Formats: sequence, C-alpha cells, structure tokens
Amino acid sequence: MKRVNSKSDLAVNGAEPAFAELLHVGRPNVGNRDTFLANIGRILDNNWLTNNGPMVQEFEQRVAQYLGVEHCVAMCNGTIALEIAIRALGLNGEVIVPSWTFVATAHALYWQGITPVFADIDMDTHNLDPDSVRTMITPRTSGIIGVHLWGRSANVEALQSVADEHDLKLMFDAAHAFGSSYKGKSIGQFGECEVFSFHATKAFNTMEGGAVTTNNHELAETLRLMRNFGFKGYDNVIHPGTNGKMIEACAAMGLANIASFDSVTEVNRANHEVYRSNLCGIPGLKVLEFDSSERNSHHYIVLEISEECGASRDELVNMLHAENVLARKYFWPGSHRMQPYKALYPHSDLVLPHTLVLSERVLILPNGQQLSSDEIRLICSLIRQTVQ
Ligand SMILES: *Cc1c(COP(=O)(O)O)cnc(C)c1O
Repeated sequence: MKRVNSKSDLAVNGAEPAFAELLHVGRPNVGNRDTFLANIGRILDNNWLTNNGPMVQEFEQRVAQYLGVEHCVAMCNGTIALEIAIRALGLNGEVIVPSWTFVATAHALYWQGITPVFADIDMDTHNLDPDSVRTMITPRTSGIIGVHLWGRSANVEALQSVADEHDLKLMFDAAHAFGSSYKGKSIGQFGECEVFSFHATKAFNTMEGGAVTTNNHELAETLRLMRNFGFKGYDNVIHPGTNGKMIEACAAMGLANIASFDSVTEVNRANHEVYRSNLCGIPGLKVLEFDSSERNSHHYIVLEISEECGASRDELVNMLHAENVLARKYFWPGSHRMQPYKALYPHSDLVLPHTLVLSERVLILPNGQQLSSDEIRLICSLIRQTVQ
C-alpha cells in the first residue's frame, strides 16, 4: 500500500511518519471520471458555460428528486446560499444559531448586518438545544438557523415548536447533511428552507457549490431572482440581487458524483464500523455513533476524548499530524471564541457550557471512498499506542 511506510506500526516514535502521504480529513469523493469528462464535453458542445444552463437545470432536478423536495436552487457555494436564503426570508435584527458549527453559519448573518446570537448544544447529539434557544430569544429575534451537525438531523420538531411559539422563521444549515434523514424523511424539506454545501470537502461535492431547497414555490422564485441580480428575463430587473450562480462545470461534477453517492455512503458506513470496532474499549475515548434508523453519509468520524483518556485530545492530534494523518479539531474553539464574535460576546462561555466542553474534546478522523481498512486499522493502532 503506497500511502503506508514499511516500518512496523510499533515504531511510532521512529523518524518516518507511519503514512508516506498526507491523509486529510475531507478528501474529495470523485465519481465516474468518464461521466464527468463526457459532461464537460457536452458543455463545450453547447457553448453554454453559466447563467442557468442545461447542466445546472438537470443537476437541480436530479437533486430535488434525490431529496424528495420540490425546489432546488443551485448556488456557487454554501455560504452565498446561506446569505441569499437569510435575505429571501427577510431575517433581520438577531438570529439564533449554534456556536458549535463551521463559522460560515454565523458569518452569513454578520456579513449582512444581522447579529448571530449563540445558543448551546446537546452533549449527546452536538446539535442545537431547543431549551437553550428559548432562553436566547429577545424582542429583536427574527429567526433560528439549526445545523444538522455531522449529518445528524437537528431536533427539527422541537425547534419548529419554539419558532412557532415566538413567530420566528426557522431554516437549516444542512451543509453536512446531504443524504441524511429526520424521522425517515430526507433532510432538505424542513423549516422554511434548507441550505447545502457541495464544497470539495463535503461527502457530496461539485468542487465548489451549494443549494437552497424548499417546498415553497414563492420562496424558490425569490431565491432564483436574488441569485441572478434580480433579473426576470432580459433587461428586466425587478429585485435586488447578487451573483450566486452555479457554473455548468460544477453541475457536471455534481451529476457525476450524485450517481455514486450511495456507494460512497456505503464505503463510509463500513469505514465507520472499522474505526468503531478498532477503537472500542479505550477509557475516555468515544466514537460518535449515528442512529441506525436514520440515513447519514457517515462522512464524519467524530471522536470525543475526555479526561479519563490516557492522552489528551491535543496530544492525539499532534501525534496523528506527526504520522501524516491530518486529523482536525472541528470546530474548535467554537464560533463564539472567534472574531468578531469574541469581542461582541466576551462572556459567552458562561452560557455555552456544553459547547465549551465539546470544543476541547472533539477530534475528526479521515474518511471517504479512498480510505482502506488497513489504513484505518493503522490509524487506530497509532491511537491505541498513544493512550496506553
Ligand atoms: C462547509 C460549511 C458551510 C459553508 O459552505 P461553503 O460551500 O464552503 O461555502 C456552511 N456551514 C457548514 C456547517 C459547513 O460545514
């Protein structure tokens, strides 16, 4: 196996890293190369590179069908998709979000003059705690953005109840949750709308890309206008807008990758099981498991390292990096401890105790279609030797 060095995996402290090549978290899953190249050929034959071309339209239909949702509005990336969705819903003032997410969830609000207010999360699911959300509501609150972290659905019904009680709009950042389900129904159809990222590092990618999905026809129309400068037909601008368009080449990648997404999920699920069985029984080390009755791409291998473990989370990260395994501390230190939010809320650690604890415990390991079982077993044995 070319990525692994010949030295015995017992020689952890040797000069050579255990892996000859870097093993990243979020290596791209790439579908059939011939399909992708044929799609690129079609784009060149059409001589239509962007502006809602046939490839993007086909991609939107394919995604909507896959998710069982009426409208998919493809965008250039997940962050712009969030910004446009936030604007199309008319959110303003304050919007409640978890701190424990990629910082784009908060940035998409702040960037347009809306104040993100951070609520705490549930220790077991890592998702927004509806009771904490309740305590953060003020007269200025206009909405809630739930995040389906690690592809595990947020507590959709409880969040919807909070939103309904206080007349707030609920939307979801579903960047991790392509192919996930909530009570058996695909993520993509909950709240006012849901936002996906198809960035190269996500389970399903279009290189860069994103989408907003909704069953609301009017909202979908507004999203389409905003994505294209507010143009309705030629020369007729009827709305403020920006440039959020997905290009044809990205849709070509998406169509190639969606065809193999189910097999990527199967590989990820099997890998997750290899990690779980090789890391079980280590005191203070937990491999996060997903509800087997729900769908999940198993893209994220999440470890929680608590005080009882023989090595700290940071010691494990440093060891793995030295062995060329680029494990990540997603989403350390938490959005509320990043700027500008740290300056805005210097004391927010006090109201986010679970976020604080988890941000010191979590470690993400590599997964994906290119990772072999032998590589996973080597990663696990490196971890075992370090905690002993
Ligand atoms: C990746 C990600 C985004 C941003 O998506 P981009 O396509 O990279 O702009 C937003 N939210 C979460 C939770 C993400 O993981």
